[in-house]
Amino acid sequence: MSINTANEIDIVKASSSKIDTVDFENLVFGNIFSDHMLTCDFRNGAWEKPVIKPYEPFLLDPSAKVFHYGQAIFEGMKAYKHEDESVWLFRPDQNWDRFNKSAERLAMPEIPSSIFIDGMKQLIDLERNWVKKGKGNTLYIRPFMIAIGSGVVAAPSTQYRFMIILSPAKSYYQGEVKVIIADHYSRAANGGIGAAKAAGNYSAQFYPTKLANEKGFQQIIWTDDATHTKLEEAGTMNVFFRINDTLYTAPTSERILDGVTRKSLIEIAKKQGIDVDVRSVLVSELVDAAKNGSLKEVFGAGTAAVVNPIVGFSYDDTYYELPKVENSFASQLKEKLTNLQYGLETDDFGWMVKV
Ligand code: PMP
Repeated sequence: MSINTANEIDIVKASSSKIDTVDFENLVFGNIFSDHMLTCDFRNGAWEKPVIKPYEPFLLDPSAKVFHYGQAIFEGMKAYKHEDESVWLFRPDQNWDRFNKSAERLAMPEIPSSIFIDGMKQLIDLERNWVKKGKGNTLYIRPFMIAIGSGVVAAPSTQYRFMIILSPAKSYYQGEVKVIIADHYSRAANGGIGAAKAAGNYSAQFYPTKLANEKGFQQIIWTDDATHTKLEEAGTMNVFFRINDTLYTAPTSERILDGVTRKSLIEIAKKQGIDVDVRSVLVSELVDAAKNGSLKEVFGAGTAAVVNPIVGFSYDDTYYELPKVENSFASQLKEKLTNLQYGLETDDFGWMVKV
């Protein structure tokens, strides 16, 4: 595999910027993209030279495998601006590592960090005006890889395109999040692709999530596919449960995405002296805890949603409302995590990487 170094990236600059047309105070998640993108093709068994160029559509053959067999993976990350105007990434090595695990599971080529991380840094460096200061303002980073080889034979492609696009973002969910506990549909199964950030994992959730939305719920908390008794994760978030003063979250497995926010919150919580127990919580335990008042909090954790309190859940057609808790674990952990990300506290973990 030819390894390109970052300084080999070609840069073609846009003739003008559209930044002045963007209302940064009223952003809808994932709708607006910055002026440039990174693109890099894999052909003849090697990655070609990456190019940073103006954001634009591109042509593909109608028989390209991504359209027929969903051979596609992605990542979701964010860039943060500190008060001194410096721009930072949060644990980008974790996303690079997970991207390559997803690539392996989908029979796609791995990508070197000289393209994934160094390329990303160069792209963001060019777009630093798109990263706004102040907590809650971010530039969402979407690296992805698709199978571009033509031919409808159901076999892995030999040609791929890796790209990075950038979208200014505030929070993902606006307003309260209520969830339904899954008792029929499944997101993932043992031996499947649940632990990969593969496109098909998301399209498979659209229909059950649509049904949940129609009932007034924003998300589904997935349960294990075999018995529907163990709580796993939500559509784009890992989930934490606080019963009395212990914080529980499911262990990662073949069915659960190994979230960067999840693993970071576990470390932060332990350091804050919170009792953390990484084990599967049963649906029956959750219902019992809600009934006897020991269930204090449920919250989701993910790059886009950050730490998102869940106000109530439905199971077996009964709705359980969560109590309003003072100084919640969710608010404490969110505060600590975002303080690190926005440079408001010393990064003792060594997680932040400067662009
Ligand atoms: N689970 C799923 C299914 C997700 O898509 C995401 C978002 N990447 C997460 C959990 C949270 O992962 P992270 O904290 O790395 O964003």
